[in-house]
Amino acid sequence: MAVLEVRNLSVIYRTPFGVVDALTDISFDVDRGESLAVVGESGSGKSTLALAIARLLPPNARYVGGRIIFDGIDVMSLSEGEFRKLRGTGIFMVFQEPATSLNPVFKVKDQLLEALRVRYEREGNTFDESKAINEILGVLRDVRMPDPELIIERYPHQLSGGQVQRVMIAMGLLMRPKLYIADEPTSALDVTVQAQILKLLKDLKNEYGISILFITHDIAVASIIGDKIMVLYAGQLMELGSTKNVIGEPKHPYTQALLSSIPRISKYEGKLPIIGGSVPNLLNPPPGCRFHPRCPYAKDVCSKVVPNLIKVDNNYVRCHLYGQ
Ligand code: ATP
Ligand code: SF4
Repeated sequence: MAVLEVRNLSVIYRTPFGVVDALTDISFDVDRGESLAVVGESGSGKSTLALAIARLLPPNARYVGGRIIFDGIDVMSLSEGEFRKLRGTGIFMVFQEPATSLNPVFKVKDQLLEALRVRYEREGNTFDESKAINEILGVLRDVRMPDPELIIERYPHQLSGGQVQRVMIAMGLLMRPKLYIADEPTSALDVTVQAQILKLLKDLKNEYGISILFITHDIAVASIIGDKIMVLYAGQLMELGSTKNVIGEPKHPYTQALLSSIPRISKYEGKLPIIGGSVPNLLNPPPGCRFHPRCPYAKDVCSKVVPNLIKVDNNYVRCHLYGQ
């Protein structure tokens, strides 16, 4: 059963220079206990998608179409107060810049205890502080936090960026939400810690049936964490399918380009293939397929008609190379 259903979601930003089409007609599901990795270059709309689902868009953003159904509830129909309750227990989000997520005036220990108190209450268990501290220390060890006993006695400003990121990841794990949204949560960590945390997230997903929406610019990371991968480009969904199919048999030229630009040390030939050009300015996105100015297969129709999202073998693909 789907924990999250997003249907035809479109979001714009109003700016002094005009309207930014940040997300256009995005539809997907995340089932219980499933992880969806959202991948795309900078400016493709990944963070906007996460913020839209968590109803945390900045004031200049507008939902201009579509629906977001979380756990059977249309989140757009809830008042701010009703949604805040849902966000506290059902949806947890780790931001790209986690420093702002912790309260500067409380010690790490108090903030993690509060997260656990919420979960114990939800599960109908009596709160036992010493048991809770043991659980906190255990999870901090799991996210490879050095000296967790000392760290929990500190205030957020006494931690490094990587330590704050680990505290936030730990907080999400302690809360065991139905949906865990993570926006590049491991990007500030070194690769070995990153790999350990990805494995931990996957284990918890399997153990507790948590659904994960994981945002990354790195398709290699997406292939580790995602059961499914969704490829975004310039605010449009270009390809969606199981990780096996998207990585093993990518259909969209943009997915193929992302995959061929992964550095492979064993195959290093002095030059890394790159995708020529850059993500377009969404104040004035290219007509038709937004990837057409960079696509080696572009044909006449590509700059005129927006391709529909169609099923090609096992993947959903938005490209004129397929279908009629
Ligand atoms: P990154 O990986 O760099 O975080 P992203 O894929 O998450 O990028 P978004 O941050 O969602 O992309 O941005 C999508 C588009 O919306 C971009 O064109 C960006 O410039 C624009 N945008 C994002 N936030 C705002 C804002 N507050 N006001 C106006 N435009 C914005
Ligand atoms: Fe390339 Fe055309 Fe497909 Fe877009 S629709 S990816 S331009 S072939």
